[in-house]
Amino acid sequence: MAYGAQRSPLLPPHPDLSLARDCELCLGWGTVVTRDGEHELCHECQPDPADGRDATG
Ligand SMILES: [Zn+2]
Repeated sequence: MAYGAQRSPLLPPHPDLSLARDCELCLGWGTVVTRDGEHELCHECQPDPADGRDATG
């Protein structure tokens, strides 16, 4: 019995639907499904989640 062995699927992020409302990329969902079947925040309408992290490099 080892806890942690079971991978819980990542819950889809919480998009701002008010921003996604008029988005044509995510069709108002605020999230897009990647080729891996994972949900990601729509980079078209949702603000960049990378705050504090230096993504440059
Ligand atoms: Zn969008």
